[in-house]
Amino acid sequence: MPELPEVETICRGLMGVLAGQRILRVAVRRRDLRLPIPANFAKKLIGHTICRVWRRAKYLLLSLDDGTVVIGHLGMSGRLYVQTPALPALSASAHDHVVIETVGASDKIQRVIFNDPRRFGLLVLSSADALDKHDLLRDLGPEPLGTDFTAERLAATLRGRPRAPLKAALLDQTVVAGLGNIYVCEALHRARLSPERAAGTLAEKAAKADAARLVRAVRAVLRDALRAGGSTLRDYIQADGEVGSFQNHFRVYDRALERCPRSGCRGVIQRVVQAGRSTYFCPLCQV
Ligand SMILES: [Zn+2]
Repeated sequence: MPELPEVETICRGLMGVLAGQRILRVAVRRRDLRLPIPANFAKKLIGHTICRVWRRAKYLLLSLDDGTVVIGHLGMSGRLYVQTPALPALSASAHDHVVIETVGASDKIQRVIFNDPRRFGLLVLSSADALDKHDLLRDLGPEPLGTDFTAERLAATLRGRPRAPLKAALLDQTVVAGLGNIYVCEALHRARLSPERAAGTLAEKAAKADAARLVRAVRAVLRDALRAGGSTLRDYIQADGEVGSFQNHFRVYDRALERCPRSGCRGVIQRVVQAGRSTYFCPLCQV
């Protein structure tokens, strides 16, 4: 499943090739994704210029010149990629559900293809004015790489979840937006905090440094992943067709029974299951 760094990487890639492009044609081949593609999808897009490609949590956002915003999500298996071919007939992969043709100043036509074999992804419409109140976005917590994600705010939010395990709290999208299983495991290891610790304990006065360390760790792990171009746990292609390599850099994720990578720690990485998901951590240095 594409995680936040992958989605951010895709957004940056798409921004580079789509900003300023005008939408010429839209082919919707299948509407029944996780949410149905609206009936007026093609009509709302055609003729408009793409101003910005950006991200909120793991949602891709495409802002058009008339204030329309396309909200996209890659679900489990979705890919969004750009073809700049000497355009033969439209490709006909069974899972290419949406094809958007654009043209820029150079008159060169591009195709943006949304491919999703398992169809847990989505493409819906909003307007820029209503975006914050959209059903999919309104309850999201702060962006982990944004200025609103602070130790004080995190502590205040966790105070309301006294008994939830810290890992579960961080996966809760209303606490912080867009964090998935892998990066939560990695951030907790960096912050030397146990995934099983009661989340509310981070709101205690004595834990002020812990909360600050956790915020720094979340940011650091995401920044490192962005630098590496996103991970590639599944078959998935970035906007420019390049494949990222962050999976080689995981410190604890999927490393059960390996030595803890923290220098001086003699622990062994353990795998436990929390709420049906694998957690990897070092029981010696994460407390
Ligand atoms: Zn350790």
